[in-house]
Amino acid sequence: MQVVDVLNLLDQWAPLTYSEDFDNTGLLVGDPKSPLRGILVSLDTLEVVVDEAIKEDCNLIVSFHPIIFSGLKSLVPKDYVNKAVLKAIKNDIAIIAIHTALDNVPHGVSATMAKVLGLENTRVLMPKEHLMYKLITYAPNQDAETIRQALFSAGAGALGNYQECSFNLSGTGTFKPLAGANPTLGQIGIQHSEQETQIQVSFLRHQKNDLIAALKKAHPYEEVAYDLIPLDQACPEIGMGLIGTLSQGLSFETLLENVKSGFHTGCIKYSQNNLKEINSVAVLGGSGSFAIDKAKALGAQVYITSDLKYHDYFKGQENFALLDIGHYESEQFTKDLIVEYLSKKITNFAPSLPRVKVLKSNVKTNPISYY
Ligand SMILES: [Zn+2]
Repeated sequence: MQVVDVLNLLDQWAPLTYSEDFDNTGLLVGDPKSPLRGILVSLDTLEVVVDEAIKEDCNLIVSFHPIIFSGLKSLVPKDYVNKAVLKAIKNDIAIIAIHTALDNVPHGVSATMAKVLGLENTRVLMPKEHLMYKLITYAPNQDAETIRQALFSAGAGALGNYQECSFNLSGTGTFKPLAGANPTLGQIGIQHSEQETQIQVSFLRHQKNDLIAALKKAHPYEEVAYDLIPLDQACPEIGMGLIGTLSQGLSFETLLENVKSGFHTGCIKYSQNNLKEINSVAVLGGSGSFAIDKAKALGAQVYITSDLKYHDYFKGQENFALLDIGHYESEQFTKDLIVEYLSKKITNFAPSLPRVKVLKSNVKTNPISYY
């Protein structure tokens, strides 16, 4: 197994194309072709985490936060970022960061928070835009079903609880094969008319290459005509945060107790409120002030996140409370999530080969203490 194999496994689970534009995810340090000895999963890649990887003989760190975020202009040991990166390079340790790719999948960071709270009927709080595309292609009528099935098998046409969604129109296609062409239908130099089906399916951006490959494989024509159109609507299944319901209503005090024990928080900051019974809760791991208005608009009574500023708390109301439980605390279970996924996938990857170990870092990288 190589480093790149882990990158591909992670990409199947939390596609890197789901990462936010500001982010820096993927392989940040190291050779993708390096044979893998062991994987250490951490929330942050500090120098002390690299030391742990050396000690445990792990040559890949899968980190939630990217240690290289806004670029490096030099590689001298001047700060915590450079020190960690330099030590990783010196010791031939690769670093992968997954960050907002995992934030944006419904089984990701916020799902771990929802699980702690026992939230049910969850849906994405901030559906992500610019992920959906439409593919329009044209097939001879007799091949339309084969091509549709090929597109569906590559993941196109999935909408919520529906699969194999497409729209189909009949029409006439024309083409004139030129010298050098090898047409399936028609003759060189003569315009040919063919009764064709226009097939329309939607898909997600990360499926594009597989979809085009499947289309070309299934299509009988030498040159396959297709249009790719970016769609403006947000994708309801992909995005940051979750909103859900509690299995039974809780008082605000009981919810605070549950949050305190469930997330091992040293301190919870919350906005003034007059909530009597809480049923609807929104969560978003990491810095979540950008989603306050959305949580309120969707009817959440409590919004649990971190890194709220003084003025953010004024957005709280009598019937809408904001809880800041700490950045690290909100994301702490992400390590377990990644370890669980990789352990399962690596066991199945090559059962005949010696198993690559997947370890959870024991370093608590939270830079904040509470008094
Ligand atoms: Zn974070």
